[in-house]
Amino acid sequence: MRFDVLTLFPELFAPFIEAGIARRAYASGQIVLKLWNPRDFAEGNYRRVDDRPFGGGPGMVMMAEPLARCLQAAQADRAQAQAGEAPVVLFSPIGAALNHAAVERWSAGAGAILICGRYEGIDQRFIDRHVTHQVSLGDFVLSGGEIAALALLDAVARLQPGVLNDEGSHQLDSFNPAVDGLLDCPHYTRPEEWDGQRVPPELLSGHHAQIERWRREQRLALTARHRPDLVASARAQGGLSRADEAVLAQLGEAARAGL
Ligand code: SAH
Repeated sequence: MRFDVLTLFPELFAPFIEAGIARRAYASGQIVLKLWNPRDFAEGNYRRVDDRPFGGGPGMVMMAEPLARCLQAAQADRAQAQAGEAPVVLFSPIGAALNHAAVERWSAGAGAILICGRYEGIDQRFIDRHVTHQVSLGDFVLSGGEIAALALLDAVARLQPGVLNDEGSHQLDSFNPAVDGLLDCPHYTRPEEWDGQRVPPELLSGHHAQIERWRREQRLALTARHRPDLVASARAQGGLSRADEAVLAQLGEAARAGL
């Protein structure tokens, strides 16, 4: 799949695609990433990409024309590379917050053209003409869309086959609806005792079934405590066994008893 990113700060991307496990998705060509700077498509000696807002007020607004030319170049390049029809995604507080389901959809497609806003945002006429999707990282304001783009790319990269060392490892990560959509269990590594705290004995037992049971109980307990909504949707989708329900019932009783 191919992602094209329109950004005034392409240099922010290199460290993330060159480090860590996500790098494998780029090195293997599973994800092709092309960076485009609207400034290269701006006119005049100053290659201006922003201007003052009509109606006054603070800050600057990204001009439509350099962005439109930049987008056209990215689209033409994609067409030449037969990279597939790409949605045009703007990162914006307007969009729905990125979540696992959306990441799975993006990782199953042909990629996208990702547009990173800066300043007060982008001239609305460009958005009305070209943007097909808006994606938010959450209910807070970033100074630019780059971190949101990197968050999407990173989450998509780790879902690509072979990117994680252990194929199964993202299966048990939090939010995976193919498993149960619950939160992940806690993890421990050496030493067995640290700062007066011991690793739960179940994990040291060497009994595969006991370990699996402990992890399952932890997933259920953590999710029931921190994200009861995810337990409810797992139940609605038939993702909870009778053993799971028994664990949850016990947890409920313990909570009611103030344990
Ligand atoms: N004036 C805008 C914020 C502009 S911030 C407002 O109040 O809604 C500059 C750019 O950062 C935006 O154009 C957008 O691309 C990006 N951005 C800011 N917050 C974001 C968020 N929560 N999710 C995704 N992108 C965001």
